[in-house]
Amino acid sequence: MHYFKYKRNDLYCEDTVLKNLASRFGTPLYVYSARTMLEHFSKIKEAFKELDPLICYSVKANSNLSLLQLLVDKGAGLDIVSGGELYRAKKINCFSKKIVYASVGKTESEIRNAVKYGVLMFNVESPAELVRINHVACGLAKRVNVALRLNPDVEVGAHSYLTTGKQGTKFGMDIATVRRLLLQREAHPYLNIVGIHLHVGSQIIKAGPYVRAVKKVQKLLKEIAGEGVYLEYLNIGGGLGIVYDKEKPQTAKEFAHKIMPLLKETKLKIILEPGRFIMGNAGVLLMKVLYIKHSYNKQFVIVDAAMNDLLRPSFYGAYHRIIPLTKRRKKSNQKKRLADIVGPVCESGDFLGKERELDVDEGDYLAVLGAGAYGFSMSSNYNSRLRAAEILIKGNKAYLIRERELYQDLISKERLI
Ligand code: PLP
Repeated sequence: MHYFKYKRNDLYCEDTVLKNLASRFGTPLYVYSARTMLEHFSKIKEAFKELDPLICYSVKANSNLSLLQLLVDKGAGLDIVSGGELYRAKKINCFSKKIVYASVGKTESEIRNAVKYGVLMFNVESPAELVRINHVACGLAKRVNVALRLNPDVEVGAHSYLTTGKQGTKFGMDIATVRRLLLQREAHPYLNIVGIHLHVGSQIIKAGPYVRAVKKVQKLLKEIAGEGVYLEYLNIGGGLGIVYDKEKPQTAKEFAHKIMPLLKETKLKIILEPGRFIMGNAGVLLMKVLYIKHSYNKQFVIVDAAMNDLLRPSFYGAYHRIIPLTKRRKKSNQKKRLADIVGPVCESGDFLGKERELDVDEGDYLAVLGAGAYGFSMSSNYNSRLRAAEILIKGNKAYLIRERELYQDLISKERLI
């Protein structure tokens, strides 16, 4: 579900014609639909309303301040993973007790800043980190809430880079370690161990992995209750999959229907950390065709966006639909050939789509769909390319929410010696 639709031959975002944005702001250009994003947030909220969970939007999916602000204004909390994301959360005055902080490698200064801001809790990923947070909390004479991130060793059926709750990945702790830490709580006098955190992966299209993980948590909760240890929170992370191509992911409602009975049994306060589900289909990347090229038996459509703008195809082999901003009235007579849609970056791995059937000419505009999550936030300046501008659409209004970078931005931190 999203609000990027053709009306006659032009692709619109809500009530705004995208080709006009491309010519006004230039390309590559990220465009987001406020309505799509907020409706996805509401879908999760509505599906889980019986449990009244804290929904912490996962900032890494797309960390633009205007987007964070919109979500926080609707009652979202934030899931952060770095001092930089905490800085963003502070900038939009996100209520500190709605912030949860994960990451396997929090530095001491990141921990200190988050304790000072008063985040709701840290999601702790190792015994050594627990010691570090206890040390910082002691120095600041504060008691700090933590949840232990459990690696439940479940298969999620996603790309290996998107699998985080399986043996062999760096995330979380094994069950024996989590159990031991829960039973030895007094070893960390400045910490309240208040919950268990799970995040088993991303782009998960079925409830099965969550069900298996939560069942493992239930077993653990029973064991520790036998020792007189009780918790307050269960955070089941993010990971809900979306439609990029032909996937048929469960809806938020279907997911809630499967997982809520188990969550209710725990009697714990529930936290969710969706990222992709909220932002993925709320954004597109607009780009312009620079050249069409034939080499040996292959056709290439060379565009002005590249892997530095949208890394997912190169990094994960991810599929994104690519469609024209203006449909051709008359199909050209040229024999249809499949083409790779590639960028200007000097890497053979720089592509946005492979073997696509597209009827395009130089100067045409195209949109990469499903680019709202892990699009701009994973972008870089590789090949000294300028990062794209970002536009937020509300109905027929377009707001520039990040300016296109300038050449001087590229070198602003460099020093000639
Ligand atoms: N929570 C944690 C701890 C994560 O690492 C991630 C993504 O990597 C998320 C939530 C968000 O995942 P998704 O965007 O798949 O919902």
